[in-house]
Amino acid sequence: MTSKETISGSNFIRTIIEDDLAAGKNDQRVATRFPPEPNGYLHIGHAKSICLNFGVAERYNGTCNLRFDDTNPEKESVEYMEAIKEDVTWLGFQWDAEHHASDYFDALYNYAVQLIQSGHAYVDDSSPEDMRTMRGTLTEPGTPSEGRSRSADENLALFEKMRSGEFDEGSHVLRAKIDLASGNMNMRDPTLYRIRKTHHFRTGDAWNIYPMYDYTHCLSDAIETITHSLCTLEFEDHRPLYDWVLETLNTPSHPQQIEFARLALEYTVLSKRRLIQLVEEKHVSGWDDPRMPTITGMRRRGYTAAALRDFCERIGITKNDAWIEMAVLENSIRDDLNTHAIRRMAVLDPVRVIITDLNTDHTEMLDFANHPQNPEAGRREVPFSRELFIEREDFAENPPPKYQRLVPGGEVRLRGSYVIKCESIVKDDAGNITEIHCTHDAATLGKKPEGRKVKGVIHWVSAAHAVAAEVRLYDRLFDIPNPMSAPSLGDAINPDSMSVLTTCFVEPSVAELMPETRVQFERIGYFVADRHDHSPSAPVFNRTVTLRDTWADKA
Ligand code: ATP
Ligand code: MG
Repeated sequence: MTSKETISGSNFIRTIIEDDLAAGKNDQRVATRFPPEPNGYLHIGHAKSICLNFGVAERYNGTCNLRFDDTNPEKESVEYMEAIKEDVTWLGFQWDAEHHASDYFDALYNYAVQLIQSGHAYVDDSSPEDMRTMRGTLTEPGTPSEGRSRSADENLALFEKMRSGEFDEGSHVLRAKIDLASGNMNMRDPTLYRIRKTHHFRTGDAWNIYPMYDYTHCLSDAIETITHSLCTLEFEDHRPLYDWVLETLNTPSHPQQIEFARLALEYTVLSKRRLIQLVEEKHVSGWDDPRMPTITGMRRRGYTAAALRDFCERIGITKNDAWIEMAVLENSIRDDLNTHAIRRMAVLDPVRVIITDLNTDHTEMLDFANHPQNPEAGRREVPFSRELFIEREDFAENPPPKYQRLVPGGEVRLRGSYVIKCESIVKDDAGNITEIHCTHDAATLGKKPEGRKVKGVIHWVSAAHAVAAEVRLYDRLFDIPNPMSAPSLGDAINPDSMSVLTTCFVEPSVAELMPETRVQFERIGYFVADRHDHSPSAPVFNRTVTLRDTWADKA
């Protein structure tokens, strides 16, 4: 593939679909599905599949189902199912129908009976170890087990006993009778059903046997008359089995499986199993920890659904696996927030400034735009008074070269306010600066100072009016691009992925923002009022992303 293929632009999947439509296939219908297993929360990799499946359906006036692939009862739950629905909805998609593979358990059982009757499936009672060795290797064909030559009637009776619970877990399986010499190991009589005496969150204790993924997926697609079954590349070798099941059973519909590359994103892991490990080993606070690559975590971090959709658009759809840089994701969110987030002032590491030539009760309300380019975002008043907080790092007693902020005897502009000059500083016994005493130039409100240039601009809040806030700074959860290459996941964790600042101050209007409101703290970064913990009396903000790519500077 030479040029990049996007979801909404041209891509190889759309070419296939358009050819099918032109050829009049599937009655010129397009039907897709997004088929998550409810065994964890969705991550950004799933967002790629969601954008593709729903996007294709929308483009061709088709349908997209949400199908829960719930055939592993040990690992699945209602909690996960509900969370998946919430995340798909939040991402901005509405499914045409909700289905569950478990809705098809009776149909799948009847199909299995047909396979047995037609001599295409048999019950194998070999031990799991024997089955493994008898499957052969890539250079040696498999060996038939006794069950392979049993009569259909005998197999049917055994399968019925598997179903009714007469056999122990692991003692019997139902296998397809395909080709023990196939070069594709998936075709060497794959398992179709196994015994699991486990409670299922939807079907309860009705079943002692559960169908395997490969058998379930193609039949679920066929039952729903899906036209194009889009899945990730690891299923390419399973496609012959997908087609074998549907051809052998002569199902009324035969969807076409098409594979595309999985998303692999640097500095994170995209596998529910690994994400569960992060939660269970308490490397994060839960599935919605803002450092998690889950949809719910990214939402709590302040990512927008539009930015995630835009990211999926930017990475495109290809047939080759490739690592995507975290910067691509961060640029999607920066672009969105730059356009849409309101601007506010916050001081994260405060030091007190006293403007000594103002009266102690001096207060004025200054008029600020909420967004520099977008007048529709409105305006607000920001209180200015004699005592302010500025960022500790915006003052330097011994400034490094090119330092353009406040220095002893120097001037700086307070953003949207006056030019001030540092006259003296006050320190505590330990030598820490506790107060910076300044004077101000009353002629500089909204005007340039006379006869001199003042280059630096710093942000500030009025000490008397500011509201104390907690600010959580998040960074990448891992400090190596491929965390799976570390001896263990824990070894790859970035020890600085979170710091909680509890002595911050925000301008008063910030406290009143509703949870999930996104805001740029000027000169600092993009933040969101925490979905769960923020309230006007105790504001809590999460850093979504810095203003610039700070990792690019490190490299
Ligand atoms: P995981 O390893 O995270 O459990 P999975 O593929 O087993 O991933 P499913 O719930 O079965 O998870 O996935 C639902 C759909 O999402 C499938 O069609 C799958 O191919 C797709 N999907 C999962 N991970 C990715 C990814 N990283 N990139 C693109 N699509 C993905
Ligand atoms: Mg899976």
